[in-house]
Amino acid sequence: MSDIFDDRRKGLEEEYFHRQNKEAIEKLRAKMAVAEQAKAVGTSSMKCPRCDGSLTESKVDGVTIYTCDKCGGIWLDSGELEQLTKKGSGWFSRLIK
Ligand SMILES: [Zn+2]
Repeated sequence: MSDIFDDRRKGLEEEYFHRQNKEAIEKLRAKMAVAEQAKAVGTSSMKCPRCDGSLTESKVDGVTIYTCDKCGGIWLDSGELEQLTKKGSGWFSRLIK
């Protein structure tokens, strides 16, 4: 067993992981840039699950909702519907009365 080959193998492994890390960091930076841009114009980078419109974030009674700019669909995160429909807590309960 030669140390030279061992060192060479280690070197290649390190190089491989270094490259992987670099790619991962670059991808992450690109994603963050997209998120920052979206924040700047007040839209999220999320796509509507129903059509290919993009979702605009807004707050209703302190709950974040996402409205599609194409089909007009409104999307909620888990538990948010309950928050909005809580008795007497705003527009949704007024709407369904
Ligand atoms: Zn849509």
